[in-house]
Amino acid sequence: MGRAFTSLERVINLEAKQGYQDKAVVGGIRQFAAFWIDQAREEAVDEVDLAFIEQVAEALRDYSRMSGREAREKQVAEVRSRLKARQERLKGMPTVATPKATPEPPARTPVPRPTEPRPTMAEPVIVEADPEGLRQSVTEIKGVGPQIARYLSRMGIDTIWDLLYTFPRRYDDYTLLKPINRLAYGDTVTVIGTVWETRARRARDHQLVQTVISDGTGSIQATWFNQPWLAQKLRAGMQIVLSGSVDQYLGRLVFQNPEWEPLEMEPLRTRRMVPIYPLTKGLTAHKMREIMKRAVNEWAPRVPEPLPAGVIERQRLYGLPVAVQQAHFPDSQEALHRARKRLIFDELFLLQLGMLGSRREWQSEPGVPIPRDADRLAAFTNSLPYELTGAQKRVIGEIAADMARPVPMNRLLQGDVGSGKTVVAAAAMVLTTGAGYQAAMMAPTEILAEQHYQSLGEMLAPMGIQVHLLTGSTPAADRERLHDALLDGSAAVVIGTHALIQENVRFKRLGLAIVDEQHRFGVDQRAALREKGLPTSDNGMQPNPHLLVMSATPIPRSLALSLYGDLDLSTVDELPPGRQEIKTRWLRPSERERAYSFVRSQIEKGRQAFVICPLVEESDKIDAKAAVAEYERLQNEIFPDLKLGLLHGRMRADEKEGAMRAFYEGKTDMLVATSVIEVGIDVPNSTIMLIEGADRFGLAQLHQFRGRVGRGSEQSFCLLLADDVSGDAEERLTALQQTNDGFQLAEKDLSLRGPGEFFGRRQSGLPELHLASLMDMEMVETAREEAQRLFAEDPFLEQADHALLHEQVTAFWDEAADIS
Ligand code: ADP
Ligand code: MG
Repeated sequence: MGRAFTSLERVINLEAKQGYQDKAVVGGIRQFAAFWIDQAREEAVDEVDLAFIEQVAEALRDYSRMSGREAREKQVAEVRSRLKARQERLKGMPTVATPKATPEPPARTPVPRPTEPRPTMAEPVIVEADPEGLRQSVTEIKGVGPQIARYLSRMGIDTIWDLLYTFPRRYDDYTLLKPINRLAYGDTVTVIGTVWETRARRARDHQLVQTVISDGTGSIQATWFNQPWLAQKLRAGMQIVLSGSVDQYLGRLVFQNPEWEPLEMEPLRTRRMVPIYPLTKGLTAHKMREIMKRAVNEWAPRVPEPLPAGVIERQRLYGLPVAVQQAHFPDSQEALHRARKRLIFDELFLLQLGMLGSRREWQSEPGVPIPRDADRLAAFTNSLPYELTGAQKRVIGEIAADMARPVPMNRLLQGDVGSGKTVVAAAAMVLTTGAGYQAAMMAPTEILAEQHYQSLGEMLAPMGIQVHLLTGSTPAADRERLHDALLDGSAAVVIGTHALIQENVRFKRLGLAIVDEQHRFGVDQRAALREKGLPTSDNGMQPNPHLLVMSATPIPRSLALSLYGDLDLSTVDELPPGRQEIKTRWLRPSERERAYSFVRSQIEKGRQAFVICPLVEESDKIDAKAAVAEYERLQNEIFPDLKLGLLHGRMRADEKEGAMRAFYEGKTDMLVATSVIEVGIDVPNSTIMLIEGADRFGLAQLHQFRGRVGRGSEQSFCLLLADDVSGDAEERLTALQQTNDGFQLAEKDLSLRGPGEFFGRRQSGLPELHLASLMDMEMVETAREEAQRLFAEDPFLEQADHALLHEQVTAFWDEAADIS
């Protein structure tokens, strides 16, 4: 049937399966259509087929813009039935070679070609790489003075290199030239024609310039507002190129404020994919493009190539200069695709190299083998008030096996909220102390550290292990004493916050470092804890401790492997028995009163409630303000007789702790909070959570919130209020209603949002991947393979031709270390 058609069939089938989310292909169906058409044309068997291809491409091109599932569903169904009809038709055709039609479709042939030949990828200009030159200020570029430089600096662009790596937010695709008689309302197109007449007039407070352009198939009017000088420029008889979207005025098709240029000019603004850059006040789109064009022309060829030639060849990647050039001013959708592929590859490759490097570095130090003392472990598990789940037993086994080796463990323990990770950590601590080593556990908030201190204290007491607590609020005298006890080894287990990684905290024999809720810490903080066991002046040489990081943000295994490639993975994929489902209901805004009375009824039973305020925008300050307002409204108007607490990100640390503690101790009935509540508070008495503006939160985040309730023996509830369920909000809320399973939800979340948002910068603790699509598993795997291959050959990137790569890996990971 032809490769193009098979792949089209696959894509639309997947699209249907995924519920018409426009997620079946990276970049969306619209972009897919743009590539597809070229490939399909080559496979066309005759004129009829060519027309068919045009129609299908046309239908798909609008797909991404269609709102509403119904419209998309219809479109997909139509394409499907057309495909089927085509197959039927081909069946009836002779199998002998049919004359192949011209690849150029009829609609395109009458269009004059640009007079100036475009540079093609086949003839690259060879220029010396010039990293020094690229580090110069943007003012080196003609047309960039101090004023423009200031504007650019505001966007974080200071050097030419910065500028080249400021990629378009999107592109307006003007590559499709159309004859005027084939224009349709809403098309984003380019037409080429002759100016018939141009008139300037005033209409109310506007100055209008109106031009009629004809191309022999028809004519169309274009109007520009408040650019009176155009009247002089657009003279009758002139040949021009117009690009823009086709509008409608009084029932006729028109262009309003289209881009234009005389036909003979270099096609910078029209007739290609026009890059749309991020802008800042004072910098116009036009100016930015002009600057970029100069920067790219002059400097993209001088961008040094960090990748070894072998990698480029094997993966059939664009060279970096070409990729940079094409990412800004692509010649076609396909070129853009390849350019992005190259840039994404670079990031994934650096990511993988960095992870392999840190793993090697970590494991090159000797570890402390901690024997797997089965009797001791059995004594511990027998002392617990419950039977461990199968999953808990399994991961304890994995951890024990790791720790018994003379290589430092580097393991991620993930498990859904409430899956019982703490007891797993406790088991590891039991083994560690049994071998005469110390264990430390770091938690992101004081309240969580205190909770661990209590629960671990109880768990470890039967084993004769005393647990210590070290936080910002530990009184100075106690702290001093604890510091000494850690240094002389008399304190075996310590739980704490960031206070643990202060410089003056030193361990005698740290054997195990644990980080809870690891996504709340930066990689540097994780590193700081495990480095507590490194040589000090006090205790001389010491091996690296084993590291266990715990996370309740479950991610699919394949992704975990690529994201945390430096870690081994254990998963607690089973909840303790008897755990009740948190009943989750999604309510309409009109049901808010009902929600309030339900909350009240729970509080009257002696329970406590959380109210989560909507995310106003990505700003702590504005969220905080909204939370204060909501708190006051609830306290004064809805629940005047109850005690409400407030928690938001703008409160001082001690105020936050105070609010959480009051709730924890039952002094407040209800805690009104922003998203800061996401981790770390375990109040078994809280049985109800009301989430306002639930549509504004991601699925994983909603699930984390919800995990704050359902921690006791009482039936718990989660009420979701959503004002706007457009987009995929409806799917998120429905998914949340349907399941309590964090892994299922995480998969769903990933498929809905894509990894860029799923792993926010803070969540991953990784440098922001500007372009990288971690969903592109194939690419992740490829990057990983190539990184491993390179690593095997030159693990320290010491070879001369890897120098640049070495530099970039370091820079990439330094950026990571800055995140906290
Ligand atoms: P999380 O994985 O979210 O950190 P926790 O370790 O806080 O979960 O455990 C949640 C609750 O489940 C705790 O109250 C803990 O005592 C309880 N728990 C853990 N394991 C089991 C088990 N095997 N059987 C019964 N309850 C368990
Ligand atoms: Mg926990």
